[in-house]
This record gives sequence, structure tokens and C-alpha cells, in this order.
Amino acid sequence: MVQWTQVDREMAMQSENVLTTLNKHGYKAYWVGGCVRDELLERVVDDMDITTSASPEQVMELFDDCIPTGLQHGTVTVRSGGYYFEVTTFRTESEYQDNRRPAAVQFVQDIKEDLQRRDFTMNALAMDVTGTIVDPFGGQADIKEERVRCVGSAMERFGEDALRMLRCVRFASVFDFKIAHNTWKGLVRQKDLLQHIAMERVRTEMVKMMSGPHPLRGLELLYRSDALAHIKAPVSSVRFNKTLLSNLEQLSGEHVLLRWSLILIAGGYSKDEADVLLRQWTFSNEHRSRITGVLQLEQLIHTSVQEPKDTVSLRSDWIVTVLACGVQAADDWLRIQSTLPAGWRNQSEQAETQVVLVQELAAEWSQSIPVHDLKELDITGEQVLQMVQRKGGPWLGQLMKHLLRETAIGTIENQHEALSAEVKRVVQDDQT
Ligand code: ATP
Ligand code: MG
Repeated sequence: MVQWTQVDREMAMQSENVLTTLNKHGYKAYWVGGCVRDELLERVVDDMDITTSASPEQVMELFDDCIPTGLQHGTVTVRSGGYYFEVTTFRTESEYQDNRRPAAVQFVQDIKEDLQRRDFTMNALAMDVTGTIVDPFGGQADIKEERVRCVGSAMERFGEDALRMLRCVRFASVFDFKIAHNTWKGLVRQKDLLQHIAMERVRTEMVKMMSGPHPLRGLELLYRSDALAHIKAPVSSVRFNKTLLSNLEQLSGEHVLLRWSLILIAGGYSKDEADVLLRQWTFSNEHRSRITGVLQLEQLIHTSVQEPKDTVSLRSDWIVTVLACGVQAADDWLRIQSTLPAGWRNQSEQAETQVVLVQELAAEWSQSIPVHDLKELDITGEQVLQMVQRKGGPWLGQLMKHLLRETAIGTIENQHEALSAEVKRVVQDDQT
């Protein structure tokens, strides 16, 4: 049995069963790609892909529990002992369309031909049940020398599928590898083809890069190649404040949303501008609103400290903004601030003193907020309507928001009577 050190024991056994079953019936079978690479890199492996000389139909005959995931590409997902393995027939690819997908695949009998279609030498590795590694392109040497290198001509390989350029930068970033000279040259020459790649795929690569241990390596490569200026929703690298970005690795990769927030702060993005960009980049609503919340607070701090203010007004500004962007964003903003050098906004000394004050007191202010949502108020819109005997309209929403703000700041208690009194006062003011 092959001794995997980076694979869950049970998964290793189950995948080996799949390989041996294929071998027993006269087919060649290998573990392939990322799992072999990650084992050599001593990185945790969480999925194992298998490649075989058996056709998809032959694979389906051998295993009871399988899903025909992508028959036209030769992929069948085999379930064994609760683990899922993608079993793909050896294949070559040809006639790439739109610089992103092969128009045709041909099934072949030689593992080397299959490995040749793969993107980088370190991903063009296969291992059989005896532990013998098939490595026709020097992938193991490249791993040892910490180098990302295309299989064959980089110009051609990036021309066939432009996503490979981002995968290249992602691997170099996550593994902290260099990029082979010709591979880099190919990337720089072909970067214009990135415009053909769906933003969802771009985002997936970028998120993997930014969650990794060396996001700055990725950003540096993106900066040097200016690759992101060529994607569908382009970003110009010159707008980013590099000194601020250099603090990125102080935020853990597990909190990738904090890293994104810092990146956008360093790019000088306003909340609205960030919202547009994150939509284009297909971030989920949840992630988008968490990041833009941080930017909204940053904007508030930037503007609200321009003029001298007392603590009471700073506190109410803070609380009103937290109501809009959420306590999570407030926590995120504070964590990001704690990694940044004092005075990075280049503001006046007086503004800076106020920022420091906000940083010191903000957590306390956030915690002091007794209500965050209209639903928590001890008065309903219905009750207000009954009280004032007026028809509903936009005024009601505004009044309810006013009640929420005042209650959150603490000028009114969240009690029915106090809130009713405020309703009466406002309505009377309106009428006079
Ligand atoms: P990870 O799973 O960490 O993203 P991976 O290398 O396993 O990395 P997958 O997308 O799981 O990436 O792909 C599995 C294998 O398929 C790769 O190791 C590589 O051999 C091949 N591969 C994936 N994408 C491409 C591509 N765009 N061009 C050529 N080969 C590819
Ligand atoms: Mg993988």
C-alpha cells in the first residue's frame, strides 16, 4: 500500500481500492495532478483525482456507485466508502475555443499523452499503486526548485486556456514559488486573453490566492504583469497604496474578507465603487456587504474627523454608521486598523488624534448599542399610525429610522412610552 502522509487514511485506502479494481480488470490507473503534487509538497490533500485507460463506460461497469459527471470529457465520479473520486479516462485535448475550453477531447491509451495536456509540470504527475511516479516533464525537479513551469510552450498553453495564467500566479503565490522564465514571458505576452475568462473563475483563483500564506507574492506578480488590467472587470494596479498592502499578511488567511477589505482600502475605493467592483467580480451578497461595510466605516472616519468634534458627536456618528453597516463590519474595521501604521491617512494632527480616539472607544461604543433593527423597537409602525391618525407614507419610514437612531445612540430609551412621546413631539414639530 502506498504510504500517503498528507491524506486521510481512509480516503487513501478507498482510492487505492478504485485503482486496484481498475488494474485487476486490465486497465491502467493512477492518482494524478494536485494530490500527487501536494503529497510531494507536504501539503494536506483533500481530494484525489484518478486517471485511467478505461473508457467512462468501462468505469461505470466496474463500479456500482457512480455518477456520470462529465461523460463527454471522460469523467465519472466513483463513490467508495463515502468518498468521491473523479475518475477520468486518459485524454488529449484539441481545438481550443475562445481561449478557454477544448472543442474536442480524444481518449488515448498512454498516460504520458494525458499528462501532456495538463498545465504545469508539477500538475503533470501521476502515481500508480506501487508508488511509482510518472513524471515526463520534470515536475518533481521543479517542485524541488520551487518553480512553476508550463508543460511545453507557455505561449501555446496560455493561448489555449487563458485561465492557466491566473492558476500560474495562484500556484506561485500560494506555494511561494518562482515562475520559470519562459512561462513568465508567455504570461506577459498572452495576458490580453484574460478578457475571455468568466469573472467567477477569476474570482475563484483570486480568493484562493488571497487566502493563502503569501498573498503579497501574488499581488506582486499581478502588479508586475499588470494582468488584472486585462480581465473582464479590470483593475488598475497603480491605484493601490503599496505601503498599506504590505500589512496584508498580518491578517490571517482564514479571514480572507478582512484581507479583501484592506485591499480595497489600499486602492482608495469608496463604498459605492467597491460595491460595483465586487458585484462584477461575482462575490456573494453576504461577502460583498461585509466588505463594503468596512469601507463605509472607513469613509465615515475619513470625513468625520476632518473637523474638530467632541466625543459625543464622534460616538453618535459611529453608531449611526454601524446601524447601517453592521457590528461585524465594525469589528472588521477595527481589526484592520490595528495592523496599519498610525497616520497612514496623512491627515492633520487634530484629525489623527480623533481617529485614535475612535479606535480606542469604538468597540465600547458598538457594544453599547441596545437595538440594531426596527423590529427590536418597543413600538411598531402600526402603533405609530394609530397614535397619530395619519395615513402611512414615506414619513413613517423616516420617523421609525429616527426612533431607531435615537434609541441606538441612547438619547431615548427603548420603552414604549418614551418612544410614543418622541413620536408625538416629532409629529407636532412637523405640524407647526
Ligand atoms: P487545487 O485543487 O489546489 O486548485 P489542482 O491542481 O488540483 O489544484 P484542479 O482544478 O483540482 O487543480 O485540477 C486537477 C488537475 O487537472 C490539475 O492538477 C491539472 O493537472 C489539471 N488541470 C486543471 N485545470 C487545468 C487547466 N486549466 N489546464 C490544464 N490542466 C488543468
Ligand atoms: Mg484539485
